[in-house]
Amino acid sequence: PKKAIVIGAGVAGLASAIRLAQKGFKVEILEANSYPGGKLHSFTQEGYRFDAGPSLFTMPHFVEELFTLCQKPVEAYFQYSKMEEACRYFYEDGTRLIVHADTEKFAQEVESQLGVPSERVLKYLAHSRQIYETSGKIFLEKSLHKADTWLSTEVLKALLLIPSFDLHRSMHGANSSRLKHPKLIQLFDRFATYNGSSPYQAPGILNVIPHLEHGFGTFFPKGGMHAITRALVQLAEEMGVKIRYQQRVEKILVENGKAIGVELNGEKRFTDVVISNMDVVPTYRKLLPTEKAPERTLRQERSSSALIFYWGIQKELPELGLHNIFFSENYKEEFRQIFEEKTVYADPTVYIHISSKVEKEDAPAGCENWFVMVNVPGNTGQDWSQITQAVREAVLLKLSRILGQDIASLIANESILDPIRIEENTASYQGSLYGAASNNAFAAFLRHPNFSSSIQNLHFCGGSVHPGGGIPLCLLSAKIMVDTLTV
Ligand code: FAD
Repeated sequence: PKKAIVIGAGVAGLASAIRLAQKGFKVEILEANSYPGGKLHSFTQEGYRFDAGPSLFTMPHFVEELFTLCQKPVEAYFQYSKMEEACRYFYEDGTRLIVHADTEKFAQEVESQLGVPSERVLKYLAHSRQIYETSGKIFLEKSLHKADTWLSTEVLKALLLIPSFDLHRSMHGANSSRLKHPKLIQLFDRFATYNGSSPYQAPGILNVIPHLEHGFGTFFPKGGMHAITRALVQLAEEMGVKIRYQQRVEKILVENGKAIGVELNGEKRFTDVVISNMDVVPTYRKLLPTEKAPERTLRQERSSSALIFYWGIQKELPELGLHNIFFSENYKEEFRQIFEEKTVYADPTVYIHISSKVEKEDAPAGCENWFVMVNVPGNTGQDWSQITQAVREAVLLKLSRILGQDIASLIANESILDPIRIEENTASYQGSLYGAASNNAFAAFLRHPNFSSSIQNLHFCGGSVHPGGGIPLCLLSAKIMVDTLTV
């Protein structure tokens, strides 16, 4: 059989390995860490379990698809349930919204809490669905770099609808005219952060994202987000994939314009095809230093990063749910500071994820595991210890103010993740969460393809290449990568 080496056991690397094994390749994954999953891993601190990175699970059918492809019963590996509630929103003036996955309920809640007619929300979500149904297949499920993608009737249909896609204005611009109420605009502007972008710059077509949450729904895996990694590892191993840990690839070997293997610890390993699940920037800069790099692609603005406080909390707060957002009062300034000043707004929006709301065993009885996250710029040399201290104080003040109780005194234990550590742990350039940002209308086309156009037999998957970051898109990157294989 043909041999494949996958660099990295992130969710896309695992999905790629599974697909290649299913096609009959002999697959080896070389992973730098001692654990699989990359950003999607888990740890325990003093009896509290935390998912380190992703907390929101959408489009589970892309996970299921891998099991179906390998003719395995998904339920035996991976179980999840649909969440009735999508998110709880808290505003500084005391307004609270519990957003249900069910669109009718959501629209009713908006009408009763914000006084906005429910039809406005329903119409908006129908628009979001329409963008997905006409453009989703082209932008997300196919290579944008192959002619046959552009020669289909689907593309023709989508081209006719382009005027309604809001490509000429920002997400915020489109939301302002479609939603009209500042709190509702802020709620939908937030979806720009699902790919680490600014709603004031990202094109209106990205208002497709709410459809993923409200059309398909939100889900939670049994055992927490890390169950996704565990299930994919089990499936990969059963398909014969060898995952080797603590193996940091140092070089991709290229001969006569073809990738022929990799080098690590002074040892060469030869293969028929190399797939990099490592961020595309360090793949070129570190593993291919003498090859001509696609500079324009690599220079693209990066998506935002995150500052996360993992707090063991010695109390249960019934007013909080699985996902909670505490909005800042000046969203525009918050994003300006992240993307232009490369710093953090003094009183930023705070996201809290509490998996113990669903998985009781994730925290001791009567306690909760809080994953407290603030969007921050990627690391470009800022003083992160100073920023972390300032953000921690601001977050505690904000949460204590809005929840009406002293939060600092509830913290039993803590650990912190910042952009520097995200980069150290996963090799993501600048610690960005989702590869390149989508802060302009052409970002989708500027993302690196799932293959190299100058080096044969070198392919790419993961959040830094087409179609982008987030678990569902990373899983799709593996599918598109395999579709573009020529070996
Ligand atoms: P990564 O997870 O980045 O893994 C890459 C792997 O390659 C790593 O294991 C790394 O060690 C390995 N590697 C790198 N270089 C080498 C080398 N030279 N040799 C060997 N191995 C190497 N997505 C969602 O869908 N929902 C969310 O709620 C969400 N929230 C997020 C919150 C945070 C804090 C973070 C960090 C991310 C979040 N994301 C979310 C994004 C999501 O985690 C990523 O898009 C996805 O997990 C990326 O997967 P990947 O396969 O691209 O690679």
